[in-house]
Amino acid sequence: MMFTRMNNNRRMPQHSPSLTHEQIPDWDNIDCVFLDMDGTLLDLKYDNRVWNELVPEAFARHSGRPLADAKADLQAHMHEIHGTIEYYSFEYWSAFTGVDLIAEHHQAVDLLAYRPGALDFLRWLKASHCRSVIATNAHRSSIAVKDQKIQISAEVDAVVSSQDYHAPKEADEFWQAMLADYPYDPERCIFVDDNVPVLNAAARNNIGSVYAIATPDSLQPSRTELGFPTFDHFADICPSLNVARTN
Ligand SMILES: [Mg+2]
Repeated sequence: MMFTRMNNNRRMPQHSPSLTHEQIPDWDNIDCVFLDMDGTLLDLKYDNRVWNELVPEAFARHSGRPLADAKADLQAHMHEIHGTIEYYSFEYWSAFTGVDLIAEHHQAVDLLAYRPGALDFLRWLKASHCRSVIATNAHRSSIAVKDQKIQISAEVDAVVSSQDYHAPKEADEFWQAMLADYPYDPERCIFVDDNVPVLNAAARNNIGSVYAIATPDSLQPSRTELGFPTFDHFADICPSLNVARTN
């Protein structure tokens, strides 16, 4: 067997920036960055494995039904309440399925991973004048599982869960409540998310710069025409990151 020695001087693949020069934030005029967690900072392959595979399997075991039936039942109900605060609630889905959701989340933690450039960007933000705030629909129990494995909360100045405000990020009430707690001029704030209805809510509430993620789940195809400036690597909104691109 022949081994190829790694050449550390090899040129990294060329990366084509996805934003125009005008779409890159003027960081001198930004005070606060609100960031979604799942599918934005973290690869959505983790949550998709938990919710599309592990939870339906556990629901089928618990209810003694065939997997296909349990999965169809769960997905139909998820579709029905999509975008509501219950949709993001562990208590709600624990009651519906009888499944220990925290245990199912722990089973997949080896899939937890930052998206390209995300951790470097969080560390750049920490050293900058900008406040960094995770603004997530994830339940506090989901955040706790992620913190046990990768300590993401420690990488930002604050973490807001929509459960705290009893309103999902899709709703204006969420933005009003969060901007009351973080009273920055919304025009001098940035928001990044992978969910278009949430991005629409942020834009409706006058957040100055709103960005979409093209590929929330690295195992799924990229998306285009999301209606907002879209990127995958965080160096695209923060050129001074100057990190090695591997994708
Ligand atoms: Mg997300």
